[in-house]
Amino acid sequence: MTIADLPDLRTARRLVVKVGSALLVDAGKARGAWLATLAKDLADLRAGGVEVIVVSSGAIALGAAKLGLAKGGRGSLADAQAAASVGQVELARLWSDALGRHAITAAQMLVTIGDLEDRRRYLNASATLERLVEAGAIPVVNENDSVATEEIRFGDNDRLAARVAQAAGAEAVLLLSDVDGLYDRDPRQAGAVLIDRVDGVTPEIIAMASGASSSGLGSGGMVAKLQAARIAERAGIALVIANGTGDAPIARLLDTGTGTLFVPQADASARKAWLGGRLAPSGVVTVDAGCAAALANGASLLAAGMTEIEGDFARGDLVAIFGPKGERLGQGLVEYTASECRAILGLREDRQAEKLGYAPRAAVVHRDHMVRT
Ligand code: GLU
Repeated sequence: MTIADLPDLRTARRLVVKVGSALLVDAGKARGAWLATLAKDLADLRAGGVEVIVVSSGAIALGAAKLGLAKGGRGSLADAQAAASVGQVELARLWSDALGRHAITAAQMLVTIGDLEDRRRYLNASATLERLVEAGAIPVVNENDSVATEEIRFGDNDRLAARVAQAAGAEAVLLLSDVDGLYDRDPRQAGAVLIDRVDGVTPEIIAMASGASSSGLGSGGMVAKLQAARIAERAGIALVIANGTGDAPIARLLDTGTGTLFVPQADASARKAWLGGRLAPSGVVTVDAGCAAALANGASLLAAGMTEIEGDFARGDLVAIFGPKGERLGQGLVEYTASECRAILGLREDRQAEKLGYAPRAAVVHRDHMVRT
């Protein structure tokens, strides 16, 4: 399978297209003529029955130019946040105009990490995306940079795009960037070869990425793109990195097939995918060897096997699960609070009720809510 015979882009039911800052903005000005050609591509996909969701960068770059901020608005968090709030107004107008010329309604959605990581808010964001697409609009998503603080920002729209694809149940993600795809070494080095297909983002693949984003306008870079690819592959979503600099970039990609395709590595259920891609567990549960073996065989995590609880988590939070030698076994949604876990640590089921004051649940982490690593 290569991009050329990838069914997903033309026949995907739902596709997320991420547009990088370097494509949309040049020297502080929007590349309006180019955007018009991309909007035409998107309209064509839609006419072919593909439901399209856009993740668009560019707010910080546009806003920084307008406010006259140094370093493209990325000199400090406050600069980036101010730039984003000015630039987002313009970005929304650009998309609304460009899609409007094809009689398509653009819908702005600004999200933070929390909106896609908290289970309830994730379900909300996902329902809104669904409704917008059903109603015939093209959602244009960006990170809500103006309010998100450093610790809770994605910071790059590559991972955001992979998350949005999960939330929207999309089959494929296209990251349009100013690089052709993943090279086997820094593309500025002589002899660098473009990799056209990746089956699993392994440490060897990660080692190929150079940290630098070629334009300096966006914050993504190849490392962030590989993180996005990892989220996508575990969610059963195909991801393509391609150069979008030229006019009609999607038509061109379908024509030339030049880019890097990351083949999905799982067809996990949406919920499991979401679990696997989540970023920050709220606590750690350590288990004994017997429990570790049971988990490896697909069992749920029971209180009897727990040996240590770290962190302060609530029911429904994500916890990381470690084995007796400190090896990471997986993560999942925990059925008890941290203090309840401590109360029933190591206890078999028949002894849990008296500690809890109510009948125990089937498991501490149910296997349906767990992904193994
Ligand atoms: N959200 C940022 C913006 O709109 C872009 C993040 C990125 O560079 O990926 O400017």
